[in-house]
Amino acid sequence: MSLCFAVDRTLGTLAKWLRILGYDTLYEADACSREFYARLEDRRILITRTKKIQKAFASHNHVFIRSAFLVEQLKQVVDQIGINPADIQLFARCIHCNLPIDEVNKNDVYGLVPDYIWQTHDAFNRCRQCERIYWSGSHGERALELISQLFN
Ligand SMILES: [Zn+2]
Repeated sequence: MSLCFAVDRTLGTLAKWLRILGYDTLYEADACSREFYARLEDRRILITRTKKIQKAFASHNHVFIRSAFLVEQLKQVVDQIGINPADIQLFARCIHCNLPIDEVNKNDVYGLVPDYIWQTHDAFNRCRQCERIYWSGSHGERALELISQLFN
């Protein structure tokens, strides 16, 4: 079964990066708090940096984040949950909607991305909800650099 997460509102950047790594990540600021905590299905791992929330959900599967820095936060999640590099599916999910994105034909995105991007890339994906278009360069270099820091 694939991992999924629920991230509290103080950890927006971490939530975004968990989505970039391919994980189904519910982010508190996308919903109201009551709805967010009501939707904490058992299998969703809670990620929080808030002591009060950690206490309230102590029996729930959770990660209590100690660092204020993204790389250390991600590393803590990777280490504590036991994520392997092979588990990661880079750019499989929309950063904004948290939905899987679909491959699209290069010709279908002509005019929808900057010309130099269209000319220099062959693979594009699109979110079925917000219709944002992703390509390997969207966050590519930063992501690969980050991943190399996580797993060395
Ligand atoms: Zn989207």
